[in-house]
Amino acid sequence: MPLYEFQCNKCGHIFEQIQGLDDPAPPCPECGEKSHKLIAQVSFKLNSNETLNRIEKRYQHYIKGRKYKDAVRFLKKASEFVKHDRIKRLQEKVETSLLKNKTTS
Ligand SMILES: [Zn+2]
Repeated sequence: MPLYEFQCNKCGHIFEQIQGLDDPAPPCPECGEKSHKLIAQVSFKLNSNETLNRIEKRYQHYIKGRKYKDAVRFLKKASEFVKHDRIKRLQEKVETSLLKNKTTS
């Protein structure tokens, strides 16, 4: 499955999402408003370093915003297409953060 780039209709935030051709545009991770597809398809090689870096960048963005559940969801989706230890490690890390976050709030 390909990686697409989207832009928020409201705040203009640009983000990437792995999804099928006919899936609706995802809501903006910043403000939750609707987005539109920016470019048809980002060239996408599974398991390439570039892909992993994109996924990690996206993950870190969620973590910075303390959106652990979004990070979990994103990694789950990513791991369906990219079978790699780096993704698995990120998943373990975020699940730990999620647990910690639950106990402190
Ligand atoms: Zn937005």
